[in-house]
Amino acid sequence: MKKRLLFILVAGLFSLAGCSRSDQPAEDSNGKTEIVTTTSFLTDLAETIGGEHVAVTGLMGPGVDPHYYQPSTSDIIAMGEAEVVIYNGLSLEARFTEIFEHLGERDVLTLKAADGIADSSVLHETEEGDAQAVDPHIWFSVSRWKQVAQYVAEELSSHDPEHAEHYQENAEAYIKELEELSAYIEERVAEVPESSRYLVTAHDAFQYFGEEFNFKVVGLQGLNTKTEAGTGDISQMADFIVDRDIRAVFVESSVSPRSIEALIEATASREHELQNAGALYSDALGSPEDNTDSYTAMFKANIDTIVDGLTKAE
Ligand SMILES: [Zn+2]
Repeated sequence: MKKRLLFILVAGLFSLAGCSRSDQPAEDSNGKTEIVTTTSFLTDLAETIGGEHVAVTGLMGPGVDPHYYQPSTSDIIAMGEAEVVIYNGLSLEARFTEIFEHLGERDVLTLKAADGIADSSVLHETEEGDAQAVDPHIWFSVSRWKQVAQYVAEELSSHDPEHAEHYQENAEAYIKELEELSAYIEERVAEVPESSRYLVTAHDAFQYFGEEFNFKVVGLQGLNTKTEAGTGDISQMADFIVDRDIRAVFVESSVSPRSIEALIEATASREHELQNAGALYSDALGSPEDNTDSYTAMFKANIDTIVDGLTKAE
């Protein structure tokens, strides 16, 4: 969509949404604060912290790639009508930029999850090329996610002081759950010898995980999913894998498996056996059927896939 056209559409939709809510009280008739979230991680977080006092509408479901996601007309209306919009930031929701700018001008509390962590703890792409690109995948650091949870609780508390105590209690309970998750991850990581701790995936979603849990992380595609890995990358990566005797690589639930499949073929032609050790959840939660529709369940499933994959391939 042309920039100008999007601008008009967004402004128009917001003014439509605005006339119906201008003289309403801050809360809807159910007394709940209406929140719209972009990614499924944030939907889970908002529901956990807000509990019974919020009604959360998540825009992106299981398996949806946020780098690519184009907000629909109904998404734009939902954001314009919400009291609170929570998004990740750091350019993750690349196609929402203009909408967030408009929301900022309206009576919508717009929270950027990345504002919950210090600028100095944001990682950057280390590879050549897009040298300064910030890494938006902050949810893969449990310690940073705890800070985001606390930030969301504080912001909801000032927006809705009547239920502040409730939000704070939920945040405290959740932070405890995240500490237990962290301990579980550390325990499982310890099963993998340090020299075998290589996580090779399609795109660079796991740098924060690698930094926090002492894993070397290699993505074939850089920080976003918009570019497919080139054959040069695949062949270089195949050499890298053979040199280090890496036996297992992982696909991602929200990214095409093509580049990882090409990598497995390239290592096979070098007579090295490399396994596809399963799918990781990278930029979206899983589904309720797979029991991976919460942040903690998703992270546990990932760490089990990683550790089982690497230790079985030994
Ligand atoms: Zn990503």
